[in-house]
Amino acid sequence: MGVNFSRALKEDETAELSAATGFSARQIVRLYSRYSTLDKENKGYLSREDFEHIPELAINPLGDRIIAAFMDGSQDEHVNFKQFLSVLARFRPIKKHVTNQSSVNSKEEKLRFAFNMYDLDRDGKISAHELTEVLKMMVGSNVSPEQLQSIASLTMKEVDFDQDGTISFDDFQQAMKGIKIEEKMSIRFLS
Ligand code: CA
Repeated sequence: MGVNFSRALKEDETAELSAATGFSARQIVRLYSRYSTLDKENKGYLSREDFEHIPELAINPLGDRIIAAFMDGSQDEHVNFKQFLSVLARFRPIKKHVTNQSSVNSKEEKLRFAFNMYDLDRDGKISAHELTEVLKMMVGSNVSPEQLQSIASLTMKEVDFDQDGTISFDDFQQAMKGIKIEEKMSIRFLS
């Protein structure tokens, strides 16, 4: 039986995925072929290892955090195509004339995704420790631990608006108000 080739996407599956993610049918077909290539052993899902083999993620300082986002909500770290797409959908550019708040690539969803990058223990708050850890991932060994600490505590002071010692999503949203996250968190997919 067909062990060595991937199952083709059915038309109704494509339509359903398109409705859920906002990707066009054409984009979905191309992303599916990328997904199938990543699934080296034709398991029918992507494992953590498959993601670790993606060169762009291997060199990305936040690669581990991005992989964690893919693992989130998957069972036993088996990421199926729908889960794969729904993470990617957060990076879809926002169309100017569309103001659908509930869509996965809305400004709030993009912010939520960025917030989760920092919230390592997923308790809904960013602690000073988490902030320091993520900063460390981003700058590597170029900055001394002392400098890192002071950057983190300065950031905490600026962003922790309700001064409870942690950054809540509300704090985060407020701090990011002036930042055009929709431009920073958009990737042009296989146009
Ligand atoms: Ca936390």
